[in-house]
Amino acid sequence: MSVAALDENTALPGVFGPLKGAGGNARITGPCGDTMEFWVKIQEERITRCTFTTDGCGDSVACGTAACTLAAGAPESVAFTLEPADVLALIPGLADESKHCALLAITTLRATISDYRKKHCPPEACSSCEKECSSRKETVPPVQAEPNGLSGVKHKIVVLSGKGGVGKSTVAAGLALSLSGKGFKVGLLDADLHGPSIPTLFNLSAVHAELFGDTIEPVRADGIKLMSTGFLLEHPDQAVIMRGPMKIKIIEQMLKEVNWGELDYLITDCPPGTGDEPLSVCQLIGSPDGAVIVTTPQEIAAADVRKSVQFCRKVNLPILGILENMSGYTCPKCGETVHLFGKDGGYKTAEKYNIAFLGRIPLDPDIGLCGDAGHSFMQKHSSSTAAQAFEKAVDLITSALKRNS
Ligand code: ADP
Repeated sequence: MSVAALDENTALPGVFGPLKGAGGNARITGPCGDTMEFWVKIQEERITRCTFTTDGCGDSVACGTAACTLAAGAPESVAFTLEPADVLALIPGLADESKHCALLAITTLRATISDYRKKHCPPEACSSCEKECSSRKETVPPVQAEPNGLSGVKHKIVVLSGKGGVGKSTVAAGLALSLSGKGFKVGLLDADLHGPSIPTLFNLSAVHAELFGDTIEPVRADGIKLMSTGFLLEHPDQAVIMRGPMKIKIIEQMLKEVNWGELDYLITDCPPGTGDEPLSVCQLIGSPDGAVIVTTPQEIAAADVRKSVQFCRKVNLPILGILENMSGYTCPKCGETVHLFGKDGGYKTAEKYNIAFLGRIPLDPDIGLCGDAGHSFMQKHSSSTAAQAFEKAVDLITSALKRNS
């Protein structure tokens, strides 16, 4: 089933127009200036009919139609949990700049169901079981006022490194892509405020996050929900100048005011080092499951890892393991492996501190090329040694989390 984006010559769909005798109705104007209005009829907690109008373009009409199509026949509780991604899945090829129409359609649909609930909550239930009614309202968070964007996140993993340039963001993105490839729902937060690289790694440098009421909608790519200060800047080359408290506020906002929704894993690419910023992430994220420490294999980098290990122990953050990146380069012609950045620094540190060793990601020029072009290395070079190493690291991490839960 799919819904085509309409042009002005196409006939309006059958779900377009007000619905006589509707039990719920809401009208919302989105930040784009378009207005949508929805109507629902509900019988025995199931949506029997859903219609809408919009003053927006053909893409708005397509999104409204898709939302009505998905809602009609569904239990109202299920229709309430529909997401913009569900609408987009019905409209293949919708232009990026029109994706906010899906968000507006879903937000208006939810408001319409809320309106129905408000009007139809049985008065006898309210007087006799006021608690039950108000608790029901609390368990169904409105889309624009998610109290804590992390409440639906099952596992939180922070990616740390003692210093910059060791491939921390590359590893964070590789872990997220590998988890997503295994069918998990994944979010990736770029908490590196001064050097946000996640937008570049996903070819999204020119993309801005949508603000909806008090909630920031994550950007989606390769099945992953992404957030970065890069999506909040007017221009990708804009310098980020912030003092300590402002940085903490922004990290808190990206954790709690982003509509992360239901996720199996949230991977956070932390700023390098062991200072205030990684500390804020660990404190604000609320019981992270653990840290993955990234290092290169030379002895001097291993010294930084030891600082990261001590940092985790001080803040009571379990360490899921050490991952050695840029670990040897194998010549594609003669097959010889050269250890340009030394050998085994991460492995030896893991052994010394009795920490799991998550493996070695080799130096692979395709990682750099894909990163610069914003292509998914994991998808483009899935059979490479490096991609296999990411898969193995993810298997070790997920097994460790399963054991701990
Ligand atoms: P950090 O987040 O630690 O600052 P990045 O992930 O931004 O590091 O990586 C720094 C540079 O190294 C990037 O250009 C990236 O493409 C490259 N890089 C990272 N890991 C590898 C690897 N295993 N092989 C080749 N290039 C890599």
